[in-house]
Amino acid sequence: MFFLNRTDLDKKFKILRAELQKLGISEELRGWNWQSPPVEPSSRSIFFGVGDLAARYCKTLRDVYLKRVENIKPPPNLKMFEGIVYHSIATDAVTRVKSFLFEKGLIGGAGIIEELMPSVTSACERLTWDALNTVGRLEDKDVEAVKMKARSFYRFLLVQAASQIDLTLSKFPHIDVDSLVNQAIPPIVERKVDGSLVGLSKELSADIYTPAYAVADLKTGEVRDFHPYAPAGYALAIEADEETAVNFGMIIYVRLSTQRPVPTIHTKCFLIGDELRREFLEIRDEAFEIVSNARDPGKPPTCPDFCPYYQICTSGLR
Ligand code: SF4
Repeated sequence: MFFLNRTDLDKKFKILRAELQKLGISEELRGWNWQSPPVEPSSRSIFFGVGDLAARYCKTLRDVYLKRVENIKPPPNLKMFEGIVYHSIATDAVTRVKSFLFEKGLIGGAGIIEELMPSVTSACERLTWDALNTVGRLEDKDVEAVKMKARSFYRFLLVQAASQIDLTLSKFPHIDVDSLVNQAIPPIVERKVDGSLVGLSKELSADIYTPAYAVADLKTGEVRDFHPYAPAGYALAIEADEETAVNFGMIIYVRLSTQRPVPTIHTKCFLIGDELRREFLEIRDEAFEIVSNARDPGKPPTCPDFCPYYQICTSGLR
């Protein structure tokens, strides 16, 4: 993403390339081996979203049972709402900057800011209402706080994009608009992937950080130890669908606060190695078993209060 420090990332991926050379990735755990175990799915009629498997709040996978067997959606919660809003802000900002460049041609960063900054408030209003329609009703004061953070995130993204555009124009005086967009605005692009060969949904959306061909995931909440599962799932799906090796994952943590004018950003980069692949595939296989047998796996000894199903499982309703 254009707001990441490219030099810092290059160093991280250099270390990871050395790790890849040392450890390697087993051929049997590449997504393109979808016709043989352990990658081969046990069912060709059940498909999971990567998030359904990767968001491992629940050790026993009761969340999978509740969602896929009992058809129970988690109640509205603030974290989910924030995640949807900030993802859509990132997509909207990138799309509008690109559209503006294609429409106006070679325009400098100041032009981007003058044209797009005045509509940040209305864009954030629209995107928060869209997210509320998806998640459900939340307290007004929480929604207002999210809107405030959304505006500062949107402004930050526009300023970063404008800066990258100016730096690129200044470095390459003969650049055309197509190259300018590619140089200044990626390198994370949303890629549609058919994950059905490995038991995942037919239309996944994976973000790819192109220089290292790493799968990236944007997170706006707390750091959780299960976050690397999502890039592992996307890596398996891309390898199966496109027969292209995906060796690295990246989680981009964006933290927003009403007390700070700009977000705090840090990245976690890692090898999508054998252990992570095996763990993801084990979760997938267990989820298949639960759904195909309609089996309630029961609750783990303790439930984290940040689990989206906490209210449902602890209220005695289920
Ligand atoms: S509340 Fe507990 S049992 Fe229910 S899905 Fe969450 S972790 Fe699992």
